[in-house]
Order: sequence, then C-alpha cells, then structure tokens
Amino acid sequence: MTERKRILTGDRPTGKLHLGHYVGSHRHRLALQDKYECFFLIADLHMLTTKPDKEDILAIADNARAIVLDHLAIGIDPHKVTFCLQSAIHETYELQLLISGLITVERLQQLPTIKDMAQAAHFEQIPYNLLGYPVLQAADILLPRAHLVPVGKDNESHVELTRQIARRFNNAYGEVFPIPEAYVVGGTLVGTDGQAKMSKSLDNAIFLSDDTATVRRRVMGMFTDPNRIRADIPGRVEGNPVFIYHDFFNPNKEEVEDLKARYRAGKVGDVEVKEKLFIALENFLAPIRERRAYYESQTGLVDELIYEGTQRARQEAQATILEVKKAMGFTGV
Ligand code: ATP
Ligand code: MG
Repeated sequence: MTERKRILTGDRPTGKLHLGHYVGSHRHRLALQDKYECFFLIADLHMLTTKPDKEDILAIADNARAIVLDHLAIGIDPHKVTFCLQSAIHETYELQLLISGLITVERLQQLPTIKDMAQAAHFEQIPYNLLGYPVLQAADILLPRAHLVPVGKDNESHVELTRQIARRFNNAYGEVFPIPEAYVVGGTLVGTDGQAKMSKSLDNAIFLSDDTATVRRRVMGMFTDPNRIRADIPGRVEGNPVFIYHDFFNPNKEEVEDLKARYRAGKVGDVEVKEKLFIALENFLAPIRERRAYYESQTGLVDELIYEGTQRARQEAQATILEVKKAMGFTGV
C-alpha cells in the first residue's frame, strides 16, 4: 500500500458546528478524507488563550463530543480519519518548548491574527500563551509530520510560520520534518442577520444539529432587503442573505434563478423565497440528521473514537519527539 500524505486540521472546542463552519471549512474535509490520512485535532489547549476560565475548560468535553458527532453527521467516515484531543497528546507540550527558540518575539508580534484575537477578547496586554499560540499550532502540525494543512485565509500566516520553524529545525539539527503546505479553503457565510459572518456568539447561526422547528424559525426571521417593504417593490438579490443561502444550499438552480428574477421585478414575496429556502435547507439537513441519529444510537462510540484516535496520534507524536530529541542531541527520553 502506498502511504497517503497527511493532513492536520482542527477545531477549537467552543461548541457545536453551524452552517458557517460547514461552508468555510468542514465541507472540504469530506473531499479530503479519501485522499489523505487525516488527523482532526480538537484543539482544547488553544482555548487557554482566550477562554482560560475553569467553566470554559469544563465545557470542553461536551463540546468535543458535539464536534466529533457533527463531523460524523456530515459524512466523515470514522474508519478513515483520526480524531484526537490536543491536551492528551503530551508531546505537544514538549515540542512547543523544543521549537520555541526557532522563532522571534518580533515575528510573532507582527502577525495580525494575534492582535485581532487580543482585541476580540478585550485584552489590554497580550498574554504569553496568546503570543505563542502560533508556535503551539506549529507543534500540532509538526507532531504528526503533516504535509497539508487546510486552513482559512486568516490562518495562512501561521502555516507560513510553521514552515519557517520546520526549515530552521531541519537545517540546524537534521531532516526530521516535511515542510507542510497550507491548503487555503474557505468562503465566508453571512449570518441570518445579514450583518456579519455567521457566529454562535452573534446569535445569527443555523446549527447542523438544529431541528425542523428551529430551522423554520431561523429562516423565517432572516433579514432580506431592508428597503423592500412590500412584495411588489423590486428587491436586491446581491448581498441578500436569503439568496446567498439559496446559492449555497438549494441545488435546484432553475428555482433559484426564477426566484431571483421575480424578486428583482417585485413579483415575489419574502415569504415564498424563505419557504423555498427552508425546504432546501431541510433537504440538505435530512441526510445529516439521519447519520447523526445512526451514530448517536451507538452508545459510547464518540468517546471511543476520541480516546482511540488520541492514542493513535500519540504514538505518532512519540515517534516524532524521539526523532526530534535524537536530532537535537538530547540523550534522555
Ligand atoms: P463562532 O464564531 O461561531 O463562535 P468559533 O469561534 O468556534 O465559532 P471561529 O474561530 O470563529 O469558530 O471559526 C473557526 C473556523 O470555522 C474558522 O477559521 C473558519 O474556517 C470557520 N468558520 C466559522 N464561522 C464561519 C463562517 N460564518 N463562514 C465561514 N467559515 C466560518
Ligand atoms: Mg468565532
């Protein structure tokens, strides 16, 4: 069997996944699971950067389960991929320290992501672990010796940093790491309010696990063209969240084009456009719900996947750490 190249990507366990996550990231994982050996990391140590309170940490276990179940529900095959819990891979802590001299404080301070995160968390000063979080991410990527890292555009700079660390390590101590490549995936999905990207915290999300009644309520409450106060006034399709969702989730392109044409001409009401979107979303969610029910009925399965996946990731991590220490000249293991 030829060895497949490896992927490392992951999620911070902040809660269940919504349509925005699906569009921006998780739909791409479906296509990648057949071609690559995939490690999907539940990046709980990354929670310590902006959510270090004990109550946030205690929520990790349930959030991790929810995220894994969401993966299975969209069609990720548990036999093909490895789910792993970052905080239980002890080698992560080791590698982060061992590579931390290969990058400067100035380089980290220049990353816009750090400033953005500090601002979003209302920090006046930057904690040490927030500044160092791209180095932790580098350790995540380098431990399984991943070749490809699917990330959103905003995280591309962190993969670049990881490449720099890997090159410097290989030059200084000997070839241990493949130089990972970023695979920029994306597309941003606007929230149901049409104001900002879909996000849990903004209460403008439709979750992959929402039931029919919730989806209906969310869709019927969506913002459309604010200038259109009556159905017979021509409306704007561009930037209108209802049509953005139709474009993503309604496979009946003829219906979507017909709705757009009638909307522009002032010949269709918001209610019909939303009713049809609701039906399209229900069709999209139907197989997701079916798989969710199937996997949920297998008691303990998700915990077992996380446990066994983490063991497997640890074995890889241990082998890497051994190589790293040997290359560096450390004799104790
Ligand atoms: P939320 O923002 O819903 O509270 P979160 O904070 O757990 O979720 P983020 O850190 O905002 O998640 O996003 C994690 C990744 O998910 C992002 O890098 C991006 O790839 C994807 N993502 C999240 N929301 C969206 C969205 N609305 N559209 C596209 N991609 C998204
Ligand atoms: Mg967010």
